[in-house]
Formats: sequence, structure tokens, C-alpha cells
Amino acid sequence: MRRIVNTIEKVDENALQSSFIESVKDTEFASYINSLGIPPEVLMKYTSSLEDCLKEKKNCTKCKSLSVCPNMVKGYAYTPEFIGKKILFSYVACYRYNKHLEETNYLKNIDFFKLPKELKEASFQDIYKDDKARIPIVKYFKEFMENYQKGKSPKGLYLTGSFGSGKTYLIAALFNEMAKRGVRSALIYYPELLRSLKSSFSSDYEERFRYIKRVPLLLLDDIGAENVTAWSRDEVLGPILQYRMEEGLSTFFTSNLNLEELESNFIIKSSSLEKVKARRIMERIKQLTISLSLISENRRNRS
Ligand code: ADP
Ligand code: MG
Repeated sequence: MRRIVNTIEKVDENALQSSFIESVKDTEFASYINSLGIPPEVLMKYTSSLEDCLKEKKNCTKCKSLSVCPNMVKGYAYTPEFIGKKILFSYVACYRYNKHLEETNYLKNIDFFKLPKELKEASFQDIYKDDKARIPIVKYFKEFMENYQKGKSPKGLYLTGSFGSGKTYLIAALFNEMAKRGVRSALIYYPELLRSLKSSFSSDYEERFRYIKRVPLLLLDDIGAENVTAWSRDEVLGPILQYRMEEGLSTFFTSNLNLEELESNFIIKSSSLEKVKARRIMERIKQLTISLSLISENRRNRS
């Protein structure tokens, strides 16, 4: 029995050896394995993995950007390491990927709820500065950041304007900038928030509600686009605004409606009590924000 095992091992070793010898004929592979400083009798056992490593290494040499990385695990290269008498293989992050991680580290401070991922990259550099309509907003952002830094509780914005003019993008750019300074924020698509609160279990509901009330910077995006109900107005929005007002937490809104239109939208059926309720919400919004408008071309699907 022992003799049979020895014979099989010998055959295996010969196969490994001949595959290794075949591969070493390739000068690139030969110079690659040479650069590793690992004894040939060890290298021989790992020919095909080493070939994979070389392939990925070559991809890295030609790399133009992380987004087109063809390696098996994007941003990583399969890499050999000589440990003991063995070669261990692992995926090692490339410098571009590490840089990307560093640059996007701020995102841990922001929650995007049901909003496009592209907003994560919104930045001040990309604001269309040639568009005069943006000047007061950019000025407001500058003051907001200065005041926030000084420990004040600056008012948020009620940003109204036409569809696709870039309202959400602008606030996302501000929140990204604040996140880089360590300030936590949440950007929430308001109609979807209501839908999710409605369908969440009671414990989940409380937790979400509490979080939205307390997050340092909050954007309620597209307020006025929801179907207003007494519940959404008096039990969701009202308490969120009340809490944030009392605690001096900066709160932002974007809307296609101006303040007067929004007020009418909060009146579900015409009665004096309804008007009072709508007015009460509006008073909180006005207390929390400075109102600016952005009338600009539609930037959606612009190439
Ligand atoms: P609104 O909230 O006013 O409806 P958005 O903020 O969604 O508009 O902007 C519309 C589109 O234009 C989005 O796809 C957004 O990513 C893009 N966009 C807006 N402003 C900029 C900008 N400064 N740079 C790049 N893309 C922008
Ligand atoms: Mg929007």
C-alpha cells in the first residue's frame, strides 16, 4: 500500500513539475516568480494560482481607474505571500481602492433614505456656479457652515423651485461637506418615509421616529408630494418639527410648492380647525428655516 501511495505522489510531483516548466517558458511569468524570492520547489506547487496573480498584477500596471478594474474582486489584486514553507494567497486592496475608501469615509456620517446614490458624490465643486440663481444659496451654505462651526444652531433652508432644478443635489452637497467635518445627517425622501412608517412594526417605528427627530441635520425631501392625512400631518410631521425646533436642530426641506401652496396642501378638508392645524405646521417650518427659491432649467437627463 505504501508503495502505491509513493508512486502516486511521484506522478503528481512530476505533473506539477512539468506544468511549472511549461509556464516558466513564458519570460514574463519567469521574471515574475523570480521577483518573489521563493524557492522553485515551493513555487512549483502553485503554478496556476501564481499565473492568476500575475494576470491581476498586469491588470494593475495598466490600470486607468478603479471603475474599470477587471480583477476578480474589484479594487483588489490576488497576491502571493510566502509563509512558513507554503505560499498563501489573498486579495490585497490596491492604492486606488484604499484612496477611494479614505475619500468616501465621510459617508458613514450620512443616511440616504430612498434617494439616488449619485447624491453621495454631490459636492460644492460641481455646483453650477455660472447659474446666478444659485448665488444666494451658496452664500447661505457658507454662512451655515461658519455658524455651525461656531456652535450656533443655524436655521435650515426651505428650498422651493421647479422640478429637476437641483434642489436635492444642493442640499446633498452641503450635507456631504458637513459629513467630512464629522457632522451626522439624514436625507429622507419624505413621501417614502411616510409609507415606510405606515408599514413598519411598532418597535421599528419608534426607533425610526426617534432617529429622525434627533439626527443633527435633517432633510425632508420633496415635502408636499405626499398624500397628506391627519396622521402624517399631526402625528408624524408635527412632532418631528416640534422636537427639532425645541432642540435647535437644523432642518431642511425641498419642495415643488412654495410656502403658501404647502399650507393649502396641509388643509385636508375646508374647516377652521383644519386651517389652524395647517397654520401650526407652517409656523414650525417657518421657525426652522430660511426660505429660498431655485428657479432653473431642468437638470434631469442632461448629458
Ligand atoms: P430637484 O430636487 O430640484 O428636483 P435634483 O437635485 O434631483 O433636482 O437634480 C436633478 C438632476 O440633476 C439630478 O439627476 C441631479 O443629480 C442633477 N444635478 C443637479 N445639480 C447638479 C450639479 N451641480 N452637478 C451635477 N448634477 C447635478
Ligand atoms: Mg428633489
